[in-house]
Amino acid sequence: MEQCDVTGLSPRKVAYLKYLYDREGTARTGEIATHFTIDPSTATKAVRELSAAGLVDHRPYSGVRLTEKGQECAEFLVRRHRILGLILAHYGLEGEEACREAERFESYVTSDAINKMCESMGHPTRGICGTISHGRGCGIDDQ
Ligand SMILES: [Zn+2]
Ligand SMILES: [Zn+2]
Repeated sequence: MEQCDVTGLSPRKVAYLKYLYDREGTARTGEIATHFTIDPSTATKAVRELSAAGLVDHRPYSGVRLTEKGQECAEFLVRRHRILGLILAHYGLEGEEACREAERFESYVTSDAINKMCESMGHPTRGICGTISHGRGCGIDDQ
């Protein structure tokens, strides 16, 4: 199964995709702007770029929705964040601190590395800030 290529995504876009994922895939541009305390025009621009990358659909008045590809990418991004968070927590960081620190470097960690760590941890289903799904690419389906 081809993995979602997220290497070119800025940390900001990673954050938007994770946010959409946690909201079951949809949000209005205004909600994104409010949540991240950014200008609505900045949010609109980011959404347009994510849409050009095929990760979200954006329709005026109905809001932003993850595409199937976007959903798959976002699932990986959330899993990456939560796996790294668990590792940091294991080594002494407190919950929120582990989340925050993971966000500082998670963008640099490849899906191969995450899949290996995930497997060695026994595919945990609970992270510090929410559940972890192990969909395509993690190897859990193949067992
Ligand atoms: Zn977190
Ligand atoms: Zn896994």
